[in-house]
Amino acid sequence: NLLEYKLSNDLLPNENIPSNDNYSIKQSPKVPFNNKNLPAYKVKDQLLKIIDENQVIIIIGETGSGKTTQLPQILYNSGYSKNGKIGITQPRRMAAISIANRVSNEMNFKLGNEVGYSIRFNDLTSQLTKIKFMTDGILLRETLLDNLLSNYSCIIIDEAHERSLNTDILLGIFKNLLSKRRDFKLIITSATMNSLKFSKFFNNAIQFKIPGKTYPVEIMYQSVPTVDYIDSAIKQALKIHISTPHTPNDNSDILIFMTGQEDIDISCQLLSIELQKLQKINDKIIDLQILPIYSTMSNSLQSKIFQNSPIRKCIIATNIAETSLTLNHIKFVIDSGLMKLKIYNPKLNIDSLQLVPISKAQAIQRSGRAGRICPGIAFRLYTLSSYENEMFDNPIPEIQRSNLMNTILLLKNLNINKINNFPFIDPPSIELIETSQYELWSIGALNNYGELTNLGKEMCKYPIDPNLSKLLIISNQGNFQCCEEILKIISMLSVPSVFIISKKNIKLQEKITKIRENFQIFDSDHLTLLNIFNQFQNVKEYEREKWCLKNYFNYKSLRNAIEINSQLRQLVIKNNKNITTCYNNWEIIKECICASFFANAAEFFKHNQYKLIRTGLEMFIPITSSFNGLNDLPKFIIFNDIILTGTKQQMNYITAVKYDWLIKYGKIFYSPKLKGINSRENQKLKEEEFNKNL
Ligand code: ADP
Ligand code: MG
Repeated sequence: NLLEYKLSNDLLPNENIPSNDNYSIKQSPKVPFNNKNLPAYKVKDQLLKIIDENQVIIIIGETGSGKTTQLPQILYNSGYSKNGKIGITQPRRMAAISIANRVSNEMNFKLGNEVGYSIRFNDLTSQLTKIKFMTDGILLRETLLDNLLSNYSCIIIDEAHERSLNTDILLGIFKNLLSKRRDFKLIITSATMNSLKFSKFFNNAIQFKIPGKTYPVEIMYQSVPTVDYIDSAIKQALKIHISTPHTPNDNSDILIFMTGQEDIDISCQLLSIELQKLQKINDKIIDLQILPIYSTMSNSLQSKIFQNSPIRKCIIATNIAETSLTLNHIKFVIDSGLMKLKIYNPKLNIDSLQLVPISKAQAIQRSGRAGRICPGIAFRLYTLSSYENEMFDNPIPEIQRSNLMNTILLLKNLNINKINNFPFIDPPSIELIETSQYELWSIGALNNYGELTNLGKEMCKYPIDPNLSKLLIISNQGNFQCCEEILKIISMLSVPSVFIISKKNIKLQEKITKIRENFQIFDSDHLTLLNIFNQFQNVKEYEREKWCLKNYFNYKSLRNAIEINSQLRQLVIKNNKNITTCYNNWEIIKECICASFFANAAEFFKHNQYKLIRTGLEMFIPITSSFNGLNDLPKFIIFNDIILTGTKQQMNYITAVKYDWLIKYGKIFYSPKLKGINSRENQKLKEEEFNKNL
């Protein structure tokens, strides 16, 4: 059987994970290519002239025209790297790695030498590196160390139309930097959407459109709204496959846009099953190569997307395939019209991953994937009326729907004290700014005037979320002295969940839960993580993968955690701090976690449920927690973060805490008089009072 995609044992990795794939990929084998035919290459002389004459250039081009892979090479070959590095930022980690790999191949360099990449906790660059691909978050951190970016002669902000939070902040920072570095070039690349906005933002900077041929794409709508988009997508894909012939390289592959890893995995599985059923009835139906794409997938699968295949490919992707990865040979696009979006609610102070309609611009972008090489067809699994009436013109920029604690910390560190004065392309709401400032103040990162405290300054030195960097810093202070242990816990919290769950197979899930009990520390998921880390570390390296398989842990995540642990350790030492240890004294570790996470405290409500002390919001215990199903639950707990699955709010990583600790460390929120419960109104008043002071 040629079907590529099978889910082993019916296991789904935990769905609620940030895309956080830290793995470097080995350089992939050489494939023949002809980049001289790419539209960007063909206009290279014009491009060079414009870049030479202007400081800021907006480059617009169809996906696949060679912006990402060719521009850096064109600049390099005409000597732009003589006075500094050429940096290219990407909003996505996976894209940064895969494109660096591609460009190093095209230029015949070993990855990590002249061409390298850098993503959080994973740097593959060297003294030799002249072309550096990186996430926008990495470049933002580099501006903290050197706010003139003097190592660079030129920066390409790629995929700027995606409007990631970090890209938006970078653009604001560049507005000031440009006048101080006349020799410096800023190139912004964008899909057609939004490009005018960038030009206006940089005083009507010149726009250059790479000419490119695209073919017409016929758009098909549903006549009635779709009930089950996965089911409809599968049926549509099979219909196409059966009714249209395929010969190798005839550009008739299928691309399906789904919302995330979970529905991609399910679709792959269903499609394969349904195809086999049809093949049993009619043996003339040929096989399909079914391939998923999402940011946390394995590297070997990742590289298969670009390899030629004798049979038709059906690629099932998240919005990563909208613009950041170019897929050749696509003729049919099936668009669910949906995406998963992380949205922060400042009123409740929670982040949630929500399923929302895409924007019109994205719908157009998705359909366009079908017309790169020849005319194509896009099947939109929604009605024309939903397209016209329910979709926004453009996606909401991340900065307007995010918790800004991290960003504000960073801006304050750049001496931008009045956040409102920062040149935002689209400013975030006052409410978002104020809530985030208040949260930073409540953990001691800002003083009453909204300025960075010493703790706040120290926190900026670590590339992790504010609550975690505070935890790391205080683990070396006072009676805690448990940095060694906290470092391991933070590393485990920084990777996609190590727990594997089986949603479909209840028997299997029962077995997994049973095995997991061997690792559980009964009143703390954080300590359980520490325990798993320690046990994994004690296993001989060549046996670790087997050990994970046996115990149903995600091997890649654990390997990753070990790597992050060692990098963070080095950072702590570099910042002249000791790595103290409490020799796994659980009480000390729990108290230390409480001292940083007191804002996320909840009180027992009823079976498997808690209520947030600050807002009264009801919370559930997830299946992977040691608290799940326990009869005798502790009265007070703190948790790492909240995840929203379906309509249920679940607390991620829970630890039991003492009431006294909450009062001691969280006196801003909890007063003994009120027995721990403060009304939301009370909270709101405090928040307003604080912000009035600024
Ligand atoms: P743009 O940035 O304008 O969308 P790219 O520079 O990413 O375009 O892509 C140009 C060409 O290079 C495309 O035809 C694409 O298929 C090819 N390409 C890009 N990355 C890879 C890769 N990792 N493997 C194989 N081909 C690739
Ligand atoms: Mg690109």
